[in-house]
Amino acid sequence: MQHTAGISNAEKLRVDWKKRWPNFRPEEVLSMDGLTFLEYGYLPIQMSLLDKLEKLREFIGKPIIVNSGVNTHRGYRSISENSKLEGAATHSWHCKGCAADVSIAGMTPFEVGEVATKLGFTGVGIYDTFTHIDIRLGEYVTWDFRGKN
Ligand SMILES: [Zn+2]
Repeated sequence: MQHTAGISNAEKLRVDWKKRWPNFRPEEVLSMDGLTFLEYGYLPIQMSLLDKLEKLREFIGKPIIVNSGVNTHRGYRSISENSKLEGAATHSWHCKGCAADVSIAGMTPFEVGEVATKLGFTGVGIYDTFTHIDIRLGEYVTWDFRGKN
C-alpha cells in the first residue's frame, strides 16, 4: 500500500511541477545517489527555493545541476561532500531546504554567483567547483572559498 501511495505522489508531483516550474525539469535535480526528486515522490527542498531556481534556469537557459539539496529523511542522500566543507551556519540552510549547491556547464562558479545575486538569492558562496545559493532571510551574504577547499 505504501509503495502504491509513493507512486501516485510522484505522479502528482510531476503534474504540479510542470505547472509551477515549466523551465526546470525535475530530472535536472539529482541527488548524490543519482535519483531525481520525483523518484522520491516528495520535494526535498522548499518550493520557494525551486521558484528561484526556476528563474535562474529561465535566465541562463541551461540545465542547472543541483548536487546538494537538503534533508536526509527517507534516505534522501542529498547532502553532498561539498556541503561538509561549509560552516555549520550555512549547512543549516540546506537542512531547512533553503539552499542548493549548483553547477552549470560553461559557466564558472563565480559567473553563476553573479547571476544568482542579480536574481535575488540572499546567500551566495563561491567554491572551486560549485556555487552555493540560498534564500536565507535577512541581509545578503556572499563569500568566496575558491582555493580553500
Ligand atoms: Zn551549500
